Amino acid sequence: MTQRRPLIAGNWKMNCLRADGLELVSALVAKTAEKGSLGCDVLVCPPATLLSDVVNAAQNSAVGVGGQDCHAETSGAHTGDVAAAMLADIGAGYVLVGHSERRADHDESSTVIRRKAIAAHDAGLIAVVCVGETEQERDLGATLSVVNGQVAVSVPDGATAKNTVIAYEPVWAIGTGRTASVAEVAEVHAAIRAELVERFEDGDEFRILYGGSVKPSNAAELLAVADVDGALVGGASLKVDDFWKIIETCA
Ligand code: PEP
Repeated sequence: MTQRRPLIAGNWKMNCLRADGLELVSALVAKTAEKGSLGCDVLVCPPATLLSDVVNAAQNSAVGVGGQDCHAETSGAHTGDVAAAMLADIGAGYVLVGHSERRADHDESSTVIRRKAIAAHDAGLIAVVCVGETEQERDLGATLSVVNGQVAVSVPDGATAKNTVIAYEPVWAIGTGRTASVAEVAEVHAAIRAELVERFEDGDEFRILYGGSVKPSNAAELLAVADVDGALVGGASLKVDDFWKIIETCA
């Protein structure tokens, strides 16, 4: 069976001023250094304003840094946007694409997200491609078709297990305190795995993260589910003790 190293990723969203962000990442760097060997990769995705500072604070540590979004184009007249190469240029290694908050707030389609993932790959970044159904889609029994459809379109043909991570995040579980049940998570992750295996030679090696109200009290049971290779954590990643407890679940 393929061994996939788990990834625990923190999405800080639009939170943290400079002092808070630096305190958070420094505490995390100190904890990872004290621990020595970790059972997972660790990633934080701060807002764009803090990326450079956080990259510097995390240098030579086990904490990776990623952006929360990138533009699909390499440069040009896109006021307010950030190109993937700009993220790579300041030392980020990853970028989230297609987070449901961006799909909703910025009307991003899976086609645009695929273009962003390609831009990330071209810049040498690992793209964390987010997918997930709304509550209405789940109630209609459309979860698997929606999620498999998002994966089919959002994940580019050039994806490999090395340059792409999938994050399954049911929209109704993000920031709500509600979590998908173990059975629901297992069903969707198995469906995504099957799709990846059918489409990519190394489909069995892609990491598939679960996201949606992951916290210390539910991390162990979620991370124990087959084909759950880590977590994308929002709220709990802003509290170093909580995020650390989730990381330690992988030890
Ligand atoms: C997220 O932002 O991707 C997320 C899963 O948030 P939360 O953990 O707060 O639900």
